[in-house]
Amino acid sequence: MRASQFFFNTQKEAPNEAELQSHILMVRAGLIKRLGSGLYSWMPLGLRVLRKVERVVREEMNNAGALELLMPAVQPKELWEETGRWAVFGPQMLKIQDRHEREFCFGPTHEEVITDIARKEIRSYKQLPLNFYQIQTKFRDEIRPRFGVMRAREFMMKDAYSFHTDFASLEQTYDTMYQAYSNVFTRLGLKFRAVKADTGAIGGDGSHEFHVLADSGEDGLAYCETSDFAANVELAEAIPASTSRSAAAETMREVDTPKQTACEDVAKLLEISIARTVKAIALIAKDEAGNAKFYLALLRGDHNLNEVKLGKVAGFSDFRFATEEEIRANLNCPPGFIGPVGVGANVTVIADKTVASMSDFVCGANKPKFHLAGVNFGRDLPEPVLVADIRNVVAGDASPDGKGVLSLCRGIEVGHIFQLRTKYSEAMSATYLDENGQTQVMEMGCYGIGVSRIVGAAIEQGNDERGIIFPKSMAPFEVVICAIGYDKSEAVQAATKKLHDELQAAGVDVLLDDRGERPGVMFAEADLMGIPHRLVIGERGLNEGNVEYKARTQADAQSVALASVVEFVQ
Ligand code: ATP
Ligand code: MG
Ligand code: MG
Ligand code: MG
Repeated sequence: MRASQFFFNTQKEAPNEAELQSHILMVRAGLIKRLGSGLYSWMPLGLRVLRKVERVVREEMNNAGALELLMPAVQPKELWEETGRWAVFGPQMLKIQDRHEREFCFGPTHEEVITDIARKEIRSYKQLPLNFYQIQTKFRDEIRPRFGVMRAREFMMKDAYSFHTDFASLEQTYDTMYQAYSNVFTRLGLKFRAVKADTGAIGGDGSHEFHVLADSGEDGLAYCETSDFAANVELAEAIPASTSRSAAAETMREVDTPKQTACEDVAKLLEISIARTVKAIALIAKDEAGNAKFYLALLRGDHNLNEVKLGKVAGFSDFRFATEEEIRANLNCPPGFIGPVGVGANVTVIADKTVASMSDFVCGANKPKFHLAGVNFGRDLPEPVLVADIRNVVAGDASPDGKGVLSLCRGIEVGHIFQLRTKYSEAMSATYLDENGQTQVMEMGCYGIGVSRIVGAAIEQGNDERGIIFPKSMAPFEVVICAIGYDKSEAVQAATKKLHDELQAAGVDVLLDDRGERPGVMFAEADLMGIPHRLVIGERGLNEGNVEYKARTQADAQSVALASVVEFVQ
């Protein structure tokens, strides 16, 4: 590519609203242009980066046997009503109407659409397993769009959905996806860590997140150096220790996830006040639609649990404490995470999960009760259980697996994989015929990567005072040739054009800066844009058969024989 024929829009000033280096640098380098809150155009330079990320993701998905398709961004309300998520997804969903006043959303995710495809197109066990993916635009009306493309409203996601005859097959594909994700982030040159994750509103059992490690990350991660324990502790940040009810309510409102709606539901069931200590209990209730909902509640303070008042609330029934097995099933807690509750009261609900049916849960012989105050645990109800709270850990605390101590770091969530099990297939009757001609519900998994967020995350990891330091795999250009005195010297023109063509022929993504700019301007722009290799060619060096080479990460330049440059930069 010749710089004179490309479009650059670098700028000196940092955008006012930018808080993070990656955001500042993406705007300054001219990768993105803001249109409105959480809305960005990818300029030609930025799109080259985005496409490189996409290519790596696509190749690894294809290698892992996934099949690419493309679904509509706009989705009819009726599909979302089948799973109940039209009501519970919350304000992140952008709802729209067509000219006939029919309701749609701009898809924040695609479980409903793909499950609709599966139930209509998949007939027999012989067709399974199948894993479909797309790379496509999502819209989520984030409460606080910020950090540029890292928390945008419109963004690019790779989302994959797998379908299976049984759990063993789902686990196999889940492992394959885990490996594919590790390959993607390794190939992209990122420092990352996979951690156990909360399954949130998507639901299901097993779940891992992939985080790019960066101090500016929004999530807290706890991990053990001497074992493979690693988990997300993001909720510790979401609800900081607080002494007033209104402050906590305020914080809960800020946690703008689909969890919020359900939080509000359960908040009605409980008398909330806030103290400092955080422990947790898990509760289960049926909502109006008869769906059993799982709630994780943080206990604050050191009052006796018997004092918790669970009120009777319209639309809710069967409200009770979850059993240890239920908690494990819902939270994917490792052993050692759960112990008997001693004390604690004053409940704040922070997370919920809708489960497919009440029969998923068995709660001994005890009848659910509306009013628990005074209840004798162990006699009237199962002993309540405490989810040991990793959300409050400090570095050096024992790892829940007992194999060492925890370290803490921060991360940016760039990928998330889930074992959905039958949550969507049951709700939407996605079935197949087994070997005996019997109708069976499909097992499902889903797997997301924040394609556009990766670009911001990579820059958070790679930058200095001069600008972006891109890994070679996603740099807009791998090599820039800075032609000194291009306008004036035919020798420079001939030599740089020849080298440009040779590099291009060798498959190197090369930019020839033929604009006749001063060296200082060319160097500053190349550094700002994060181009990994810089070659400087001027008449003096040419007379000696040399060019000057500098890596973006090196302080000093070195002289390289012109004849060996093509090999040198590869
Ligand atoms: P977050 O916790 O950051 O809000 P999420 O858990 O809501 O993310 P998922 O539903 O797991 O996101 O979606 C899959 C991936 O999409 C995420 O791992 C993330 O990389 C990306 N993603 C989610 N929300 C955004 C956003 N607002 N802007 C850019 N990328 C996003
Ligand atoms: Mg989110
Ligand atoms: Mg998340
Ligand atoms: Mg997630």
